[in-house]
Amino acid sequence: MLNLPVYLDNNATTRMDDKVLEEMLPYFTKHYGNAASRSHPFGWEAEEAIEYAREQVARLIGAIPKEIIFTSGATEAINLALKGVAEMYATKGNHIITVKTEHKAVLDSCAHLESIGFEVTYLSVNKEGLIALEELENAIKPSTILISVMYGNNETGTIQPVKEISELAKKNGILFFTDATQATGKIRINVLEDGIDLMAFSAHKMYGPKGVGALYIRRKDPRVRVIAQMDGGGHERGMRSGTPNVPGIAGFGQACILSKIFMDEDNKRIKKLRNKLEFELLEIEGVVLNGHPVLRLPNVVNVSFANNEDANLLIQLNKSISVSAGSACTSSSLEPSYVLRAMYGNDDLAKSAVRFSLGRFTTDEEIDFTIDFVKQTVNSMEKSFSE
Ligand SMILES: *Cc1c(COP(=O)(O)O)cnc(C)c1O
Repeated sequence: MLNLPVYLDNNATTRMDDKVLEEMLPYFTKHYGNAASRSHPFGWEAEEAIEYAREQVARLIGAIPKEIIFTSGATEAINLALKGVAEMYATKGNHIITVKTEHKAVLDSCAHLESIGFEVTYLSVNKEGLIALEELENAIKPSTILISVMYGNNETGTIQPVKEISELAKKNGILFFTDATQATGKIRINVLEDGIDLMAFSAHKMYGPKGVGALYIRRKDPRVRVIAQMDGGGHERGMRSGTPNVPGIAGFGQACILSKIFMDEDNKRIKKLRNKLEFELLEIEGVVLNGHPVLRLPNVVNVSFANNEDANLLIQLNKSISVSAGSACTSSSLEPSYVLRAMYGNDDLAKSAVRFSLGRFTTDEEIDFTIDFVKQTVNSMEKSFSE
């Protein structure tokens, strides 16, 4: 049986895996200790759970456990990375390079840094959402301390040339931070091979709970230093004070184990379904693909319905399928996507953009239904439009 509406908004958040919930439950009622209680077994159990999870999270990205700082999510990890590095290296320089298509957490953190005297360069992207390495190279100055480029875009799925970016950064003695919230758990990431110095990611985008994330901070070649943005009891090696969310962190660890085990299998299936959906969507007249045709996360297809610009297609589609116009935050403000605007230089295609993002629990049946439903909806809207 098909349950409606069909959920195709996995880039906004994912359903938690049952195995993740199972792992979390005992830490609410049985092992409810505070990991900072060092003198009794309740505290020890909680601390053990956190350290076990830290190993699993580190293992997924090729890091060591000491390089993982748990936070309340990617937004906090991004704030800690950008503001913490800026504050730490302010005596070295005040220039940061990022991209126009970054997530709001990055852009707003950069805007804050600009308001207190830092200088930020916002790189442009081409029509497929990719930055140009020459533009990046030309933007580097003696005062540049940090390059912040996301791994995979949340709206289009476009994957940036992370390795080439990190090589440029390294060559110039600049730190490289990446918001890998959409890529982690979906594609293989190895912080050493990719040359990443700091990386933010989040449990709820990979079948874990909401409200838990992590910041990877490299400890060797180079040893990266960050100024904490939360003062208090000195938890997480002083990097993030506040009683850690033990059940959430245990769930995050489990989500990482599952991602590592099922990534290839999940991806093969998800990509096949995505490609089928994409092929059928592109058969509809006036439909164009937003994002890179190949260098793209396996679960996303973002398209614009150029013939349906003024009609409210998204509202009609949302009656039976939960999709969004770009990012969750952009759609709540009902403004056309700034990501697509940066790609195309205008809002023409941004106005009719719809993002379909699949996940571990998306079925063949749901994709078949979606294909039929989108075609029917577009047809009936075009008919009523021309009447
Ligand atoms: C969801 C998302 C974030 C924010 O993550 P939270 O854990 O919800 O704070 C940041 N960056 C990208 C690319 C995202 O998709």
